[in-house]
Amino acid sequence: MIQLYQPLNFMGLLYREVKQAVIDIELMFNILGQAPEVEDRGDATTLNVTRGDVRFENVRFGYDSAREVLKGLSFTIPAGHTVAVVGSSGAGKSTLSRLLFRFYEPWSGRITIDGQDIAGVTQTSLRAAIGMVPQDTVLFNDSIGYNIRYGRWDAGEDEVREAARAAQIDGFIQRVTGSYEAQVGERGLKLSGGEKQRVAIARTILKGPPILVLDEATSALDTFTERDIQEALRRVSENRTTLVIAHRLTTIVDADEIIVLDKGVIAERGRHEALVAKGGLYARLWNRQREADVDAEQDGSALPPD
Ligand code: ADP
Ligand code: MG
Repeated sequence: MIQLYQPLNFMGLLYREVKQAVIDIELMFNILGQAPEVEDRGDATTLNVTRGDVRFENVRFGYDSAREVLKGLSFTIPAGHTVAVVGSSGAGKSTLSRLLFRFYEPWSGRITIDGQDIAGVTQTSLRAAIGMVPQDTVLFNDSIGYNIRYGRWDAGEDEVREAARAAQIDGFIQRVTGSYEAQVGERGLKLSGGEKQRVAIARTILKGPPILVLDEATSALDTFTERDIQEALRRVSENRTTLVIAHRLTTIVDADEIIVLDKGVIAERGRHEALVAKGGLYARLWNRQREADVDAEQDGSALPPD
């Protein structure tokens, strides 16, 4: 019996960890077959994305009934626009993306895409419409080409390379191995956090979804790598409905709307300039980050490695 149970427990543990840390739905499906918690309804329809409007309507949610994490959130990301969510750790930012992917269902309220409640559509059609660049990208022990083509299996070699160029990872691949057949991992091509994130960006470019979720890496990248990645991210999100979970506020000065989450409620919302002028929570976050950047430049840690 023990032997029977252990693999199941292990899968349960693995599932939770993958879900928590990675949120790369496609990867998770590949590893586990499918998400066990939320199931398609019997009458689920196929999501029909016409424009790509995303709406959260008075969404309330908690992971357990004792604690509400999102306390009634409403916002709209009009088709092709970018909404950024900022706030301290634990505020509920990543939870928003998990709900949009329907890893979980809201306690009340609803999330719609082009007017269709995502609770009533098939998960396959929902996830086909959304591209995710997660905080931490996990790569398969396979070739670098495989890892990019994962975004769309029928992509040709030219398209894979084109996506890699747009994500600014092609140069690295050419320089280090000269081949997209090179294996990634311990005994092959070793990638840094930033390089892995570019692979995820390349994948997403190939997939070409109308809706994007970008969960920025918290730190780990030096300022210059980060600027390159921001440029790549900016290009992918052009003309797509984008929800960006931002840690570096410099990324989101152009966002159509910035939502400042605090303990599960929207504390402030608006565009960058207006929020800075307001002198509230966002302005404090902004000033704190600016001071940290100035310090980093002065002690040289913001310079590119030579
Ligand atoms: P953020 O991304 O803003 O840092 P999260 O959305 O990840 O925050 O988490 C919001 C709150 O929900 C936190 O208090 C966190 O501890 C809690 N939480 C996140 N995931 C789970 C989970 N799987 N089970 C229980 N609580 C969770
Ligand atoms: Mg988070």
